[in-house]
Amino acid sequence: MRLRNSLFVRMSISFLLITACKDTVQESATLLIFGGNIYTVDDTRPMVEAVAVKDNTILFAGSLAEAEQYKNDQTQLLDLNGKTMTPGLIEGHGHFMGLGYNELNLDLNNTTSYQEIVDAVAERVKTAAPGEWITGRGWHQSKWTEMPPETVNGFQTHDLLSAVSPENPVYLGHASGHAGFANAKAMEIAGLMELDKEGISKFEVEGGEVMRDAMGRPTGIFNELAQSLITKHIPENTPAKDIKAFEMAVAACHKNGITGFHDAGIGRETIALYEEMKAKDKMKIRLYSMLTGGDKELLNEWYKKGPMVDPDNLVTIRSVKLNCDGALGSRGAWLLEAYTDRPGHFGHETLPMNFVEETAIDGLQYGFQVCSHAIGDRANREVLDRYELAFTELPQLATDHRFRIEHAQHLHPEDIPRFAQLKVIPAMQAIHMSSDRAWAIDRLGEQRIKEGAYMWQSLLKSGIPIVNGTDVPVEPLNPIASFYASVTRKTLQGTPDEGYEPAEKMTREQALRSYTLDAAYGAFEEGIKGSITVGKLADFTIYNQDIMKVAEKELLNTEIAMTIFGGEIVYTK
Ligand SMILES: [Zn+2]
Repeated sequence: MRLRNSLFVRMSISFLLITACKDTVQESATLLIFGGNIYTVDDTRPMVEAVAVKDNTILFAGSLAEAEQYKNDQTQLLDLNGKTMTPGLIEGHGHFMGLGYNELNLDLNNTTSYQEIVDAVAERVKTAAPGEWITGRGWHQSKWTEMPPETVNGFQTHDLLSAVSPENPVYLGHASGHAGFANAKAMEIAGLMELDKEGISKFEVEGGEVMRDAMGRPTGIFNELAQSLITKHIPENTPAKDIKAFEMAVAACHKNGITGFHDAGIGRETIALYEEMKAKDKMKIRLYSMLTGGDKELLNEWYKKGPMVDPDNLVTIRSVKLNCDGALGSRGAWLLEAYTDRPGHFGHETLPMNFVEETAIDGLQYGFQVCSHAIGDRANREVLDRYELAFTELPQLATDHRFRIEHAQHLHPEDIPRFAQLKVIPAMQAIHMSSDRAWAIDRLGEQRIKEGAYMWQSLLKSGIPIVNGTDVPVEPLNPIASFYASVTRKTLQGTPDEGYEPAEKMTREQALRSYTLDAAYGAFEEGIKGSITVGKLADFTIYNQDIMKVAEKELLNTEIAMTIFGGEIVYTK
C-alpha cells in the first residue's frame, strides 16, 4: 500500500512537471489543418474544427482557437476551404503488387480513337526506362469515333505508334484478347522488320496471322497465335519492373486516398522488395502484409523468427493468409447445400481443413494472426470450427488473437453470431456485393441470399467489427465505390431502388469505420491509426464533398482532393 502511494505521488509530481513544461514551452505544429468538415472516427470527439500535426504525428485535434496555439512561423497552414477530411483510408484486403502490375499495363478500355492510344503511349514513354517494354490492353477499333486515314483490313497501322515510341517496344492487346498491336521497335526485336534469308516464311504462323500491307510489310496487327511472335520477347517480371509496379501501386493508393493497405498474401521475393523500398525511402504507404500460407517453408522460417511489427509503421508482417475455397462465380465456393444452378455440386475446399487448425495453433503459439479466405457457408463454418478448436486448446494465447475470415460472403444463419462469440473478424469487400449480387442469387437461390449473403448489419449488430476493402485488382481500388456499396447495397448503376436486402446496409458511420478504425483493429493497429486522435499517425484523406452528408446519388461523384501520409501531402488533385 505504502509503495503504491509513493508511486502515485511520484507519478502525480511528474505529471505536474510535464503539464507545467507544456504551458511554458508549447510544442509547435509542422502542419495545421482547418476550415472544413473533419470527421475523426474518435467517439470522444466525432468532429473537430482543426488538427495540428507535428512531423508524422497528430499533436492536437479540437477547436481552431486551441489548435492555433501550436502555430509558429514555420507551421504549414492547410485551409480545407469547406472540404471534408477523415482519417487516412485503409484498404482492408487487396493485393498490392497485383495492383501495381495492373497499373503498369496501360488500360485502353475507354479509348475512343487511335490517336488516344498513341497519346497514352506517348505519355508512358516519358517515364519509361530506355528499351523498357510498354504494354497495355483493351483497345477496340469498333469503339472509335473515327478511323485513321491509313488502314489495312480495317485495322490501323503502326506508323503513328512507332513515331511516338521509337526506342521503347510497345505491345497493346485487343479488348477481345484475340489480337495485339505492336510498334516497329517491338517488331524489330522480334526480327520481323526486315526480310532476311527466312524471307516471308517467318510471317507464316499456324493458327494465326501477321497482317501486312500491299508492300508485304507487317502493319503491327497480330492475330490469334501470331501474337506469340511478339509476346515471347516481352520479359517476365524483372527487378526493375517490380520496382516500377511498386511505385505505381503507391501512387494509385495516394490517388485513391489510401494510406494503409492490408496485403493479402505475399512471398519471399515481395518481402525482399518491400524491405528494399523501405530502405530507399519509397515506402509511402503502410503495408500490413500477410504471409502466403501456400509456402510452408516460409511460414516455418517466420514462426522461428517471430512477427515483424515495424517500429516505423511502414511494413508489418504478423499474419498468415490461407486460401480455403474458391469463388461463387466459378462455383468454387464451398457450400453446405448444392448450388441452385448446378444440382449436386457443392464447390470444394482448396486446402485440407486440418491445415487451418494446424496454422491456427501455430499462429497462436508464435504470435501470428491467421486470415483465411472463405466464401461459401461450408468454408466459413469449417474455418470457424478449426479456429475454435485452436482457441479451446490454447485459451491463454487466444485472448486477443484477431483471427480473420477474408470475404465471409455467404454464411449459414447459425454461424453469423459465431464471429462475435469467437471474436473472429470478417474482412468483407462491400463492392463485391455491388458487382456480384445480381447473379449470385442464381448460385445460391433466394433464401440463402436473403438469410446469409453479405450480412454486414447482422454481423455488426452481433458485436464484431468489419474490415472493408476491394480485393484490388479483382475490383478497382476506389474506396468511394466500396463506401457507396456499403451504405446503399446497390450496383454502381444505382439499382435496385431500395438496395439489395436493405436491412443489411451499413450506416455511413459504420462504413467509414470499416475503412479506418475497424480496419486498423483488424491489424492490431487501432492504437496508432484509424482515427484522428492525439498521438496517432497523421494520415488523412480529404474529399471534395461531405461523404457523410451528401445525397446518396451524389456519393459516387466524390473525388479525393488530397492525401496526407505521415504529415506530408503526397497527393493533390
Ligand atoms: Zn484477395
